Amino acid sequence: MSAALDAIRQEEEALLCRSYSRYPLAIVRGKGARLWDVDGREYVDLLAGIAVAGLGHCNDEVCEALAAQGRKLWHVSNLFYQQEQLDLARLLLSTSHHGKAFFCNSGAEANEAAIKLARRYMRKVRGRDAFEIISLSECFHGRTLAALAATGRESLSDGFTPLPEGFRQVPAGDLAALEDAIGPSTAAVLLEAVQGEGGVKPLSFAYLRGVEALCRKKDILLICDEVQAGLGRTGKFWAFQHAGIEPDIISMAKALANGLPMGAILSTDEVARGFEAGSHATTFGGGALASGVACKCVEILLRDRLPQRAAELGARLRQRAEALQAELPGTIREVRGLGLMVGIELACDGKPIWEELLRRGFICNLSHGHTLRLLPPLTIDEADLTAFLETLGDILREAR
Ligand SMILES: *Cc1c(COP(=O)(O)O)cnc(C)c1O
Repeated sequence: MSAALDAIRQEEEALLCRSYSRYPLAIVRGKGARLWDVDGREYVDLLAGIAVAGLGHCNDEVCEALAAQGRKLWHVSNLFYQQEQLDLARLLLSTSHHGKAFFCNSGAEANEAAIKLARRYMRKVRGRDAFEIISLSECFHGRTLAALAATGRESLSDGFTPLPEGFRQVPAGDLAALEDAIGPSTAAVLLEAVQGEGGVKPLSFAYLRGVEALCRKKDILLICDEVQAGLGRTGKFWAFQHAGIEPDIISMAKALANGLPMGAILSTDEVARGFEAGSHATTFGGGALASGVACKCVEILLRDRLPQRAAELGARLRQRAEALQAELPGTIREVRGLGLMVGIELACDGKPIWEELLRRGFICNLSHGHTLRLLPPLTIDEADLTAFLETLGDILREAR
């Protein structure tokens, strides 16, 4: 550890609540898919702030939009009409079958809004006392108390109980188990089409269509958490669109404003009737600054066809990773993913491989101790992806 890094680490120890275990890196600057640490070392960033900087760090156009909006209007609260929200809503709604948007500030908050809307729609519009939310094993929906309840992972809720009631979980991929779990008090099924924190696990399109059919048959809502997989990352604008399904509500956040805190839900016109003036609100949600920047981000995603680029680059990345798997038997267990949301599950302990990648200048995430999770900017040069796989190949060869 360098002296500069150690100094920052010690300062943090004194000043911050201890809630994160950090990588041994202090980042001071970013541009595109490159980051620089406090010692001036350059890295290829294959994580993009956990699928946030989809357009790359300090994207020139986004920086300009931020500066222009920053001089015009930051925040007045939702007591006022603001054109920025409407421009963003119109763009987002042009990408899906939904009819209404609600803005907030993070992924967990977007899921809270989705859950609240589903419950209130059932109660107030449908007159049914249906409140239960069914989620899937290995899901992740965020860290607020209700999102934790939906996530249902004891290691994350340890020490924080009691969690809100009205959540239950079934094994992902098992339609019969889901059908059994749906009862008169069920309001909605909540799922990620590609489970991100679960280790980059795409649900099969057949299963997703089966879930949708069950929701329709049982007359309950389908909510897709697109917080990580949405906004072009998987090769379609929304991950659910791969399966051709039409969820009633979707939640989003991470890449929405390329790094400004921003979340949203989109809902069908019918289900949006569940909210009335005063039923749900946030001070910051959809503020002019975040909305103005998000609007530019979505505009760029659409204009530059970045979902399509993610599909093409991701397909070639996975092909090359599979070639590596074939060339070096016993090193890679599985290559998974959709678009530029890729998991490379190693057959060995992943920690030393991940550390060596970092030493050689490649930043990615290690999930569950053995899966290299790649969430690069959608604008990354293909040469950076190729260099990553060459380096991974070198490391795996040396480790054999
Ligand atoms: C990151 C994430 C969340 C939580 O988002 P926050 O902004 O951290 O609250 C929720 N769902 C999914 C699928 C995520 O990847």
